[in-house]
Amino acid sequence: MADGDADRSATLDPDDAFAVLANETRFAIVQTLWERYDPNDPAHVVKFADLYESDGSATFSELYDRVGYDDTGNFNYHLEQLTDHFVRRTDSGYELTEAGFEIARAVVAGTVRGHPNIEPQKIGIGCPRCDAPVVIAYENHHLRVSCSECRGLWENADGDTGVLFTFPLPPTGLSDRTPEAAFHATLAYNLNRVRSFILGVCPDCSGVVDESVDICENHEPSERGGCPHCHRAHRIEAVEVCSQCKSTTRGPLTIAILAHPTVTAFFHDNGIEHHFASWETFRRAQRVEETVVDTDPLRFRLTVPAEDDRLHLTLDESLDVVESVQEVSYAPK
Ligand SMILES: [Zn+2]
Ligand SMILES: [Zn+2]
Ligand SMILES: [Zn+2]
Repeated sequence: MADGDADRSATLDPDDAFAVLANETRFAIVQTLWERYDPNDPAHVVKFADLYESDGSATFSELYDRVGYDDTGNFNYHLEQLTDHFVRRTDSGYELTEAGFEIARAVVAGTVRGHPNIEPQKIGIGCPRCDAPVVIAYENHHLRVSCSECRGLWENADGDTGVLFTFPLPPTGLSDRTPEAAFHATLAYNLNRVRSFILGVCPDCSGVVDESVDICENHEPSERGGCPHCHRAHRIEAVEVCSQCKSTTRGPLTIAILAHPTVTAFFHDNGIEHHFASWETFRRAQRVEETVVDTDPLRFRLTVPAEDDRLHLTLDESLDVVESVQEVSYAPK
């Protein structure tokens, strides 16, 4: 790729990108190049070593035939519109750029044949509050998990109680998975995204993340479930928003804190192998205590238990850990 091409691909703004893609033929070109791409092809292994040395590209005539267009000049015009941001010209033809792959992946993730859904059903997983079986359901690209008995951790917008979590999952996440495997995949997929947000890197576009907290001022969680003011069981919620692409996530600080390396080390010292992107994080978060210890400047204390030991972490308004104290029990274990 020539330097001038690289400059042009770097400066496509969102208006231009939407305009370029708002055309059936151009989408068909992206789709054809994606279908032709084989990640196991040795040509692409070479490609990773040297990004612009690939012989896995499609020639103009092959692309033209596969897309099934009937006007060469017009087809060439559409192909030129995609070059060099979404499609790259190589010595032997055309291939997708990383931006082109991202478009193709977004389409693949968001669409599968048929109408994938999971009718509400109990699975062999116990509620972290009351141990009754949880009920999972999938619709509108979201997996919702509720307790079959108790009020759960949230009320949803319809005032339904019992919700433990609702997480997005692309329909591709249901393919080749049982409902229980889809449940675990949803947690792995989303908690890894949460971890990336916490590290300040948007999992969708790598942009800078703005982090803030949402504190319920008059939090009154009832014994049976949520608070009448914030409709959730926890008081402090971590809110992460990408400054570039508007990707966002929010959830209990009692969960977010369990991604911290001090917590992993503390669990390890207590003989517990802690994997953040798992259901165990949800269960462990139920035992984490949250306190607002100061409002000016803002300070939170989170206490994480393991066996008889306690880890007290103090966080500032940026959710950075400013103090960590381990309270060790000397009772024989
Ligand atoms: Zn329950
Ligand atoms: Zn509240
Ligand atoms: Zn982003």
